[in-house]
Amino acid sequence: MMSKAILAAAESPRMQRGVRRHGMRLGAARFVAGETLDQAVVVLRGLNDRGLLCNTTLLGEGVCDEAETRVVVETYREIFDRIAAEKLRVNVALKLTHLGLGFDEDLARANIGELASDAARLSNFVRLDMEESAFVDATLRVYRSLREEGHENVGTVLQSYLYRTPGDLDALLDLSPNLRFVKGAYLEPPDLAYPEKSDVDAAYAALVERSLSAGGFTAIATHDTALIARAIAFAKANGIGRDRFQFQMLYGVRGKLQLDLVEKGYDVLVATPYGPDWYRYLMRRLAERPANVLFIAKNMIRR
Ligand SMILES: Cc1cc2nc3c(=O)[nH]c(=O)nc-3n(C[C@H](O)[C@H](O)[C@H](O)COP(=O)(O)OP(=O)(O)OC[C@H]3O[C@@H](n4cnc5c(N)ncnc54)[C@H](O)[C@@H]3O)c2cc1C
Repeated sequence: MMSKAILAAAESPRMQRGVRRHGMRLGAARFVAGETLDQAVVVLRGLNDRGLLCNTTLLGEGVCDEAETRVVVETYREIFDRIAAEKLRVNVALKLTHLGLGFDEDLARANIGELASDAARLSNFVRLDMEESAFVDATLRVYRSLREEGHENVGTVLQSYLYRTPGDLDALLDLSPNLRFVKGAYLEPPDLAYPEKSDVDAAYAALVERSLSAGGFTAIATHDTALIARAIAFAKANGIGRDRFQFQMLYGVRGKLQLDLVEKGYDVLVATPYGPDWYRYLMRRLAERPANVLFIAKNMIRR
């Protein structure tokens, strides 16, 4: 209930103005590695130094203007160059609506094709995040078309809260895909997504096991210790090598668990976004764990 209320309230212009003005000082910095690439590089290097892999994202989504998407593409090209120059173990995850998917699928496809080629030139990788359910078909179409065109260095994301996802996974298996599995972070109606968390969790375990059993690479993106333990047990019982999967978590969430898994010899990637456009990202993090609202509120009181 509380999570839904936070996601709904996030659309209010008044809330946006207030949070944007003060949010970074009041706690957004826990989840966002700064507003500039220079600030992000310092954070990314620190995570790499502790044995963690990373991806980074220039925060932003829902762009409605072609010229603006070109600025985003150029910024990602700079990000790939900087990652290479700094020799960071960092790849990129981005939202196709940041590249124009919301108004022109062909434009978004051309933009991501250019970035996938640029990433390949620098031996890097790019993942297409999954957004609201309205974008799932188009995102999967773009992913398939990239792979069919020969881009091997791309992956995408499947969300366990959607009823459709087991079918989507089966349909992708012929590509030997690189897939990140998440529970899903958007407000979706009950005719499309499980309303009950227990169903989302059960679907998550089933999807990860199906993916691990098939070819391809499985990114298990959750902070849920029960699901992580279950995936480890499944991999062990079925002789699935540690090179076939990795764990992924968010910057600012469960840092100790991230390091414990590294200590045990598992690959852990920390999704570490940056950029001035952090508002919607922060709202999703608050909705996932309403206790985070208290964290922000406490910072307000301390000031
Ligand atoms: C690497 C990564 C990439 C993601 N990419 C996408 C994407 O492309 N599309 C999409 O829809 N969603 C994405 N998500 C978000 C995802 O859908 C979930 O909303 C989020 O991961 C919370 O679910 P959980 O699996 O951690 O399980 P939960 O059951 O929600 O959480 C398990 C435990 O983790 C801790 N926890 C979880 N979230 C937080 C938080 N925000 N702050 C503090 N503690 C927390 C709590 O202790 C909680 O009890 C991504 C998540 C990760 C980790």
